[in-house]
Amino acid sequence: MGDGAHASDTEMYGGTVAAFAEPESMLLPGHDVPLGRYTTVRRLLPQRQRRMVGAWCFVDHFGPDDVSGRPGMQVPPHPHTGLQTVTWLVEGEIVHRDSLGSHQPIVPGQLNLMTSGHGIAHSEQSPPNHPPGMHGLQLWVALPDGARGGEPRFEHHPTLPVLQDDAATVTVVVGELAGERSPAQVHTPLVGAEVVLADAAQQSVPLDPTFEYAVLSMAGEVEVAGVRLASGSLLYLGEGRTSVSLDSAAPARLFLLGGEPFDDPLVMWWNFVARSHEEIAQAREDWTSGRRFGSVAACEHDPLPAPALPNVRLKARDRHGTTVG
Ligand code: MN
Repeated sequence: MGDGAHASDTEMYGGTVAAFAEPESMLLPGHDVPLGRYTTVRRLLPQRQRRMVGAWCFVDHFGPDDVSGRPGMQVPPHPHTGLQTVTWLVEGEIVHRDSLGSHQPIVPGQLNLMTSGHGIAHSEQSPPNHPPGMHGLQLWVALPDGARGGEPRFEHHPTLPVLQDDAATVTVVVGELAGERSPAQVHTPLVGAEVVLADAAQQSVPLDPTFEYAVLSMAGEVEVAGVRLASGSLLYLGEGRTSVSLDSAAPARLFLLGGEPFDDPLVMWWNFVARSHEEIAQAREDWTSGRRFGSVAACEHDPLPAPALPNVRLKARDRHGTTVG
């Protein structure tokens, strides 16, 4: 907590800030986690101090890695429930296959959005002749009650709205920012946007004070709301801001995450987002028994077995990390 910018922010916002909690900020470095057999990712959410940003409940940043002569990303078929997966690449290529029959390569600048609803299975693989570099994000969005039991769906968006000026190129990947709206289907008010800053840029990005936000640096060091943010780290910005300042001395690539605070307590375990231990146990049982999630055709890898459930009961946690029930 405490970014040194609280006082000036409060003055800048004048009376408008009074309806909201004072904007906070919290710097969250990631930690390395293996993904599949060949890839290591930096996990930025969930963390003990901060579990969610809006409905964003899972943030992995991978690369930049040199994967020339190596398999690249090889994630065998696995199930999801209760969430959307967002895949965003800066370098490389990944082929998505799922149990709806989708077979979709993705390259930088495009969006793959998979909505699990009640259940879906997918695999993600670098193709045999992949580019030498790999760099990107894998994000999850928690689905609200009205959507989490729905039908699975897959969307590929080859083009997305872009806001461009001399200092910055902003791609609205999901949700809405500064009047531009992504065509991707979302179920809660949120935004995910890539911000590429030119050399020595000073930029102000308009924000919705009813949203909470975080900024991830994918490359380069940037001063965000007065806090120095290193590549691979996430800065949580809280609620109540009407803009965020970005100040870079060199080119940088950021990803802005935001959304209306998500109030439902969640149980997140393996690849499942649910509301209770029983729902998680049922999802695990359904995957193990070959029910609900379907199968992924034309993937040469065997499906991932679910790990054993822990001996303790899984507890729901709210967005502050407090256990419920
Ligand atoms: Mn997945």
